[in-house]
Amino acid sequence: MSVQERISSSKTNLTQAYRFALDPTPLQVSLLRSHFGGSRFAYNALLGLVKSNWDANRIEKEAGRVLPSEDYLGTSHFDLLYLWAEKRDELAPWWSENGVSTYNDAAQRLSHAFTSWRNGNAKFPTFKAKTRGGSVRFRNHAVRLADSHHVRISRIGEVKTYESMRKLYRHVERGTGRILAATISERADRWAISFTVDVQRQIPQTRPPNRVIGIDVGLSTLYAGATPDGTPVLEVANPRHLVSAETKLAHTQRIASRRQGPCKGVAPSNRWKRANARVQKVHAGVANSRRNLIHETTTRLAKDFDVIVVEDLNVAGMLKNHSLAKHISDAAWGEFVRQLEYKTAWYGSTLVKADRFYPSSKTCSQCGTVKAKLSLDERVFCCEACGLSIDRDVNAAINLARQGLAGTSSVTGRGGEVRPEHQILDATAHPDETSTKTPTDVGV
Ligand SMILES: [Zn+2]
Repeated sequence: MSVQERISSSKTNLTQAYRFALDPTPLQVSLLRSHFGGSRFAYNALLGLVKSNWDANRIEKEAGRVLPSEDYLGTSHFDLLYLWAEKRDELAPWWSENGVSTYNDAAQRLSHAFTSWRNGNAKFPTFKAKTRGGSVRFRNHAVRLADSHHVRISRIGEVKTYESMRKLYRHVERGTGRILAATISERADRWAISFTVDVQRQIPQTRPPNRVIGIDVGLSTLYAGATPDGTPVLEVANPRHLVSAETKLAHTQRIASRRQGPCKGVAPSNRWKRANARVQKVHAGVANSRRNLIHETTTRLAKDFDVIVVEDLNVAGMLKNHSLAKHISDAAWGEFVRQLEYKTAWYGSTLVKADRFYPSSKTCSQCGTVKAKLSLDERVFCCEACGLSIDRDVNAAINLARQGLAGTSSVTGRGGEVRPEHQILDATAHPDETSTKTPTDVGV
C-alpha cells in the first residue's frame, strides 16, 4: 500500500509490541536455555576477537607500523555475522544445535553495543556473565502462531502461552498484522514472549482540543492532573512498588548472601539458586505491577482527554541525583511518556511536551509570579504575591494544562512532536515504517 492510499483511507501501519507469558515444557526450557547460552557465547567470542585484534593493532601502531584499515575487524552487524561464520566451526563446533537466530541476535546486539559506545552513550562493550536469566530474539520466519494459545518456534516446537493471544492471532489471520520478530526472555523462572508486529490500524482524526489536562509527575503523588480552569481531575498516589517490596527484597537477599553464590571457579550451590530465584521473583513482581499501573493510567488519559500536556523531563539528567534516583526510576517516568506518545496516536488525542525549561512548579497558577526557589520538600505552594496556597503538584499541573491550551491554537502540530520513530520498537526490523503518518498528518 502506498503512502497516499494510507492517508486517504486513514489507516496507518505501526510497529507494536505484544507480550505474553509462556508456559514451556521442561524439554523446551532446556532448548531455550541452550539458545540463550549460544547467544551469550557468540557475543562474548565475537567481542573477544574484536578486542584482541584491536589490541594487537595498537601494539603494531605504537611500534611505528602503518596499518591499513582492512587490518581492523569491523563491528557492523554484517561484519560480525561474517566473522562468526568464519570462526564458528573452530570456536563452537556445537553451533548447529541452536537456530541461526541465536547468533544473528548476538551479532546484532554486539553491533548495537559498539554503536552506543561510539556515540558516547555507553561504555565499551563488556563480556556477558551467566548470572541472570536471558533472552533471545527470533526473526519472523522462525516464529508462527499455531493458534491463539500456541506459538510455533523453529528448533523449540509448539510452546503454550498462559494467556490467549486472540487479538494478535486475529490480526495475523486477517492480514492486518505481520510478525516481524519475537523475543523470548526468562526472569525468575518466568517465561515471556514479546512479538514485534507490523499492525495496520484505523487511525482516528485528531480530536478538537476540548478537554485539556496537564500532568505533573512527582514522587509523593505519582501523577497529578488538572484542567486549565484549575480543577484537579487526576490523582494517582505513588505506590512505591519498589520501596514497599524493599523489606521483602532485603530479607531474600540476606538469605541468598549466606549461601554459596557464583564466584570464580566455584559453581553456585543449589541452595543459592533457590534463594536467588526468590530474589528475582520479588524483582519480577515489582516490574509487573509497575507496568500495569502505567498502562492503566496512560490508556485512560489518552481515551478521556483530547490534549495531554506533560513536562519534557530530562530523566537521564535527574538520575544523576542519587538520593532521588531510586524513586525516579521506580516511578518509571520515561515509560509513562513513551506510552502516552503512542496511545495518543491510537485514540486521536494529542500529546504536548512543555518546554524543558518552563518553570511549571515555580509559577503561581493564580497570578503568574515565578518563584526564585522552591525546594523539593515544600509540598504546598504558597505565593507571596497573591497569597495562593495550593498543593505543589496540582499547581504545576494547572500551569502545564494552560501551556497546552496556549500551544494548541497556534501549533496544532505540537502533537506532531510525536514522531513515528517513537512507535518503532526496532527501526531495523522494517525500514518501510519510516513512512508511517502521525494522526495529525492523517487528520488534516
Ligand atoms: Zn500568586
